Amino acid sequence: MNTTRTSRPILPLATLGLLGGGQLGRMTALAARSAGYRVHALDPDPQCAIRPVVENCITARWDDAQAAAALAQSCDVVTLEIEKVSVASLVAAAQYAPVRPGPEVLDLVQNRLRQKNWLVRQGFPVGAYTSVRSSAELTSVAESLGHCFVKVAEGGYDGRGQTRLGSALDAVKAWEYLGGLESVAEQAIDLEYEISVLVARRPNGEIVVYPPALNHHENQILVWSVLPAPIPQERTTEAQTIARSIAAEIGLEGVLVVEMFMTRQGKLLVNELAPRPHNSYHASERACVTGQFEQLVRAICDLPLGSAEIVRPAAIVNLLGDLWTGAGPLDLTAALRIPEVRLHLYDKSVARPGRKMGHISATGLTPQQALEQAMTAKRSLHFQTEETGEETTSTNIPERITGGTHR
Ligand code: ATP
Ligand code: MG
Repeated sequence: MNTTRTSRPILPLATLGLLGGGQLGRMTALAARSAGYRVHALDPDPQCAIRPVVENCITARWDDAQAAAALAQSCDVVTLEIEKVSVASLVAAAQYAPVRPGPEVLDLVQNRLRQKNWLVRQGFPVGAYTSVRSSAELTSVAESLGHCFVKVAEGGYDGRGQTRLGSALDAVKAWEYLGGLESVAEQAIDLEYEISVLVARRPNGEIVVYPPALNHHENQILVWSVLPAPIPQERTTEAQTIARSIAAEIGLEGVLVVEMFMTRQGKLLVNELAPRPHNSYHASERACVTGQFEQLVRAICDLPLGSAEIVRPAAIVNLLGDLWTGAGPLDLTAALRIPEVRLHLYDKSVARPGRKMGHISATGLTPQQALEQAMTAKRSLHFQTEETGEETTSTNIPERITGGTHR
């Protein structure tokens, strides 16, 4: 990667370009603006979450390379908040402004198979997987892998574009569900817990690695996340070492999250890479000296990176569209009665089940306490908790993770 071209700091009042205008882009834009930058964005949705907080928002498709080039022409540096942007768009933008992370990084992560093959080639630990191109292939793969997750190679997110396969007998149905698209079958991992590690790297090579976040998913969607993950120190170090090496090997400019599985057999495996801010690091805004969005701005502007040290443990709980589509309005005031709680809403006018509408964050003396406060705040959003109280989400950091010490 060429870093010499771009090793000068990009200072306010420069203009940052954001490919993607969802909540991650919106929060990046807010961080950039509070540091004195101007922000322009591009998103296919004319009502995207970033629009109200940027000076200019182009409505264009992810593969509209001309529009991406037009965005870059008005910007000093361009970044992305979603992997759906086409590589061609990044290449076109790079004619006019540095694009960080660059097209090569996007090209690598955009396809699950390519990404996994790269991780294996570089010697990083991943679970057993196989590429699948037909239902017959899926049947025989499922016979050898057993219980597995089948994921489309390109375009899936938040559990979309993937399905669990309990037995080879369901392979034909699963293949149809995935639209017959090239996919990756992954052996189902016997999970002890899931963590992620955020790493920031600027063009001059400086790297800052965050403490791991402990993440809880349900139906393949992130429900809650806690920082720092209350796991043994040697696991933290192992996870951070992997994330640091990946950032260096991939030539990252910007931020990258490495999602990881800890197996019950005690092995740490890389699940997937996301070269952008991440839902599992929303708690960094509260827990760390430098939040992920400010860090992204500093990294792409080639400014000295901020500390990732923990100031106070923090947790977040996602607020999905299901909450709004349920009975009655939400009691937002009640959620704020806990003084350590903050409410973060993304200004999305249409609530759909599974759509990320906002999150609640809370700090606490310990990760467990932060999580409890965030969960309690979320439950209090319902006016009639007792009647509607169908809470199934686990609200505790399991003792098997913390070894019984809810640090
Ligand atoms: P996101 O956009 O939220 O990262 P995604 O659609 O990219 O999600 P994955 O990260 O691959 O999907 O999977 C989502 C979740 O599903 C994982 O965090 C994990 O909880 C579960 N999962 C996925 N693959 C496996 C596996 N091979 N074994 C066990 N659990 C898995
Ligand atoms: Mg994931």
